[in-house]
Amino acid sequence: MRIRLGHLYPDYLNIYADRGNIAVLSRRAAARGHELEVASVSVGDELRPGEHDLLYIGGGQDREQALVAPDLAAKGDAVRTAVTAGTAVLAVCGGYQLLGRGYFGRRDVDMPGVGLFPHATIAGERRMIGDVLLECELEPGVRQTLAGFENHAGRTRLDPGAVPLGRVVAGFGNDGESGYEGCRVGRAVGTYLHGPLLPRNPWLADWLLAQALAHATGGEPLELAPLSDRLEAQAHAVSAQRARDRGGRF
Ligand code: GLN
Repeated sequence: MRIRLGHLYPDYLNIYADRGNIAVLSRRAAARGHELEVASVSVGDELRPGEHDLLYIGGGQDREQALVAPDLAAKGDAVRTAVTAGTAVLAVCGGYQLLGRGYFGRRDVDMPGVGLFPHATIAGERRMIGDVLLECELEPGVRQTLAGFENHAGRTRLDPGAVPLGRVVAGFGNDGESGYEGCRVGRAVGTYLHGPLLPRNPWLADWLLAQALAHATGGEPLELAPLSDRLEAQAHAVSAQRARDRGGRF
């Protein structure tokens, strides 16, 4: 199968190994005989719902976020329509913030959001930096851990009833208080975790690919054939241990 990935603003939001996440998706798709076709969707480009099986948006500094926010907000209808129709999404950090209602209070620049995730982000004084470990249950009864690194000033508050991506085992998470990290709406997940997220959490890469394939075929997500993942498991273990030992804290 061909899996069509739309990479939102690769020229603006491209820090924190975001391209590495796409390389992982591409290699893991190829290992199962699928081809990941990557198309850039940037400022001024039209986003047509149905054209992508998976959307990816990465992290960025406040400055780059402010440059893309109005354009992204104008694409809001298209993003929400695509997700309602089963397109999968991975949104990381700055992109995760902008897929909510907005990022507010940063040097008087309020950035509008897409309104896909039921949350709002307020800029804080102190950055939340460090290793993070989460416990996630994206499929009922299937618990997985997600290990990564966070670095954000924004505090993201989920609306009541919103579904987080996971429970914080170590680190700050959405706001350093709620005990939750990230958000999930249908096949869309958003998270603060970056710093090679998918290389050390291959289960999330495969979950996204399975959702994207389901969109491509119009069927249900099917489990992908397992890969060896020996190095990935080691990377995950090291990262998880670092978070347990000295996860992000002030
Ligand atoms: N600029 C945003 C913040 O500091 C997002 C940072 C990021 O993408 N790491 O909250």
